Amino acid sequence: MATCYICQNTKWTTAYRIKDWDIERCDVCGFARINPLPARETRPEFYSQEKVVSRNVKQLSLSQRFSRAMKGAFKKITGQDKSGIFYSKLSRYLPAGTEVLDIGCGDGSFLNLAKRRFNCTGIEISEYLGSLARRQAGIRIIIGDFFTADLAPGKFDGITLISLLEHLDHPEAAVKKCFDLLKPGGILLIKTVNYGCVNRSIRKENWTGFRVPDHVVYFNPSNLKRLLERTGFSRIKISAWPFSDNMYCDAWK
Ligand SMILES: [Zn+2]
Repeated sequence: MATCYICQNTKWTTAYRIKDWDIERCDVCGFARINPLPARETRPEFYSQEKVVSRNVKQLSLSQRFSRAMKGAFKKITGQDKSGIFYSKLSRYLPAGTEVLDIGCGDGSFLNLAKRRFNCTGIEISEYLGSLARRQAGIRIIIGDFFTADLAPGKFDGITLISLLEHLDHPEAAVKKCFDLLKPGGILLIKTVNYGCVNRSIRKENWTGFRVPDHVVYFNPSNLKRLLERTGFSRIKISAWPFSDNMYCDAWK
């Protein structure tokens, strides 16, 4: 059996069966993952498809529509979309002109806002989305895998992982890489699906967070905090609302 890289436990329980995959949950810390891991080369187009398709309501499943309605309600209450939330946070934490890296930047929608105040770099594994991001002026875009990208350690004041962590085979290595890329005192901002949310326990296999095969790992607030602490991050703040499919996390190096 595989070892849970958060708590070192080796016992897993199959929590759900979705299409050809099991969702297995660590018996100790509750970290969940897809099994078997889908072949990597089959997934880059899913990364594109997810974001492109989500713009076309007619193609959305019922649970995606539900999720979209929740997002709309959230935006009405807070007056902000996802990019706005990250931009406000960064602006609160970092002075203008500092270095910001968005990993998994998609079509560059967040960086297009962030560039008003920060020196921005984006990395995107999907060639299609990366090429869309490159059309936005004033942002350096690297198309490829951020594990192998040519980036200097300690270069960045802020790093954002917006809806990315759930796509990664090795989120623990990604978090470590972010730690290395940050300056001392730099901040990591994360948005990822929250396996611990009420929506998942109500909707079970139909939970919108289960997007197989492109979502491969699922954290809850406590095991995400544990992973970040072990990596060396401090002052970790996680915001998770019971009826939101996602959680937000701020962590300092
Ligand atoms: Zn575990």
